[in-house]
Amino acid sequence: MRYLPVFLDLKTGPVLLVGAGELARAKLRVLAAAGARVRWYATDGHQDLRGLEPADAARIELMTGDPLAADLSGIIAILCAGAGEIGAAMSVRAKSVGLPVNVMDDLAHSTFIFPAIVDRGDVVVAVGTGGASPVVARRVRERIEAMLPARIGDLASFIGDFRKSMHARIPEFSLRRRFWERLIDGPIGALVLDGRKVEAEAELKQIADPSRYAGRDEAQGSVTLVGAGPGDPDLLTVKALRALQDADIVFYDELVSAEILDRIRRDAARVPVGRRVGKPGIGQAAINKLLIDAAKSGQRVVRLKGGDAFVFGRGGEEVEALRKAGVAYSVVPGITAGLGGAAQFEVPLTLRHEALRITFLTAHKARDAETVDWSVLTDRKMTIVVYMGMTAAPSVREGLLAAGRSPRTPVGVFARVTRPDAQAAVGTLDQLPELVARLDGGPAILIIGDVVAHSAPWRHQSLTQTLSELLEAAE
Ligand code: SAH
Repeated sequence: MRYLPVFLDLKTGPVLLVGAGELARAKLRVLAAAGARVRWYATDGHQDLRGLEPADAARIELMTGDPLAADLSGIIAILCAGAGEIGAAMSVRAKSVGLPVNVMDDLAHSTFIFPAIVDRGDVVVAVGTGGASPVVARRVRERIEAMLPARIGDLASFIGDFRKSMHARIPEFSLRRRFWERLIDGPIGALVLDGRKVEAEAELKQIADPSRYAGRDEAQGSVTLVGAGPGDPDLLTVKALRALQDADIVFYDELVSAEILDRIRRDAARVPVGRRVGKPGIGQAAINKLLIDAAKSGQRVVRLKGGDAFVFGRGGEEVEALRKAGVAYSVVPGITAGLGGAAQFEVPLTLRHEALRITFLTAHKARDAETVDWSVLTDRKMTIVVYMGMTAAPSVREGLLAAGRSPRTPVGVFARVTRPDAQAAVGTLDQLPELVARLDGGPAILIIGDVVAHSAPWRHQSLTQTLSELLEAAE
């Protein structure tokens, strides 16, 4: 983030606008709608206020003379739109006196940029792309517009009216936060969003004991086991995102990507409890205890795990511990690495006539791979997805070959799936260890089965091969 979004108080002074034409008029409309006072130097001499509400037009002072000689005292920001050469010169002047300046479509001369704005009264959302793409910003804005209730601004100002008095009645911060959350999500919030402010106010005034309303009595903590998916934060479910936004504390695994940790509510505590290959973690029993203790102290706990909690994620053990301790819990599924990898690299895990079954298995260590009963995995119409199989790849190969699966069986190794640095290597079962060695590290899943021949990297590889054969033949 290079540009920090801040909100300028338009009550503190006028904005200076320099420029002409449609560009300047567009800025005038934005400023007028926001209630700004504007001093406008029309660089082409046409000071046309048509189309503006009389009340807005009344806040616009039409200036004459050289804008470069304008009196800047009291001005809170300078905008140049359709100002031509004057924009750059204005920028130099603004910078020399430390005033924020925006020259439209000219990042080099701007010290701030204009966001795309969602305006719902007291609720304002600013969307920026660092000047890279106003079109993307607009698209994001449209999505937010669609998502926000129309009267969300009314709700904010409603709460604003009662904040001070509630502060006195519920001195404890976390309880107060819960009070407002309950109110927003409950019937009173619904009334405000429905445009029935008077009734909402009456209901609010009826709350005799706000601390009770905040639910301290029932304020039992709980644990939500959340599957974070394989890395891409856009693969979080809506429910997972909501849990991350509601959490007081998050215990997360090593596999959870930084982009996903970014989605956690900003003031929630974050506790890493994972282990890396080779390095021990704090141990499952200790993790269970942390979860139970945090929930018993009344916190909303999230246990965040890579992929899905119930796929080689020890979620089952945690749920059992929580149940024994009498702690309330829920489970939010995540996209497991095997599914994320299959989607990204276009491996149809099942395919009519070709693949009728899928097996997910783990081969953590060669020792584990030796204990796998490979003889049940020889069906040609079965796709095998191996987790934690990088180091054990030679044993996976031996096991399957010894059981009779063809050395020509297509296999793929898919690393860091759905992340920006995802990587794939495809080949045949007899090449499996070499394929693993070709990648720049894990985590990676192995997919074994005829369907790998339909994958994007396989198609790409065959194409490259055909081309080089053609080229060789041509020489
Ligand atoms: N619960 C997780 C699996 C945890 S076991 C899930 O459902 O995905 C850890 C193994 O998962 C790794 O050894 C690797 O095989 C696989 N894995 C996890 N994230 C991955 C990723 N982004 N890309 C490839 N494999 C991944």
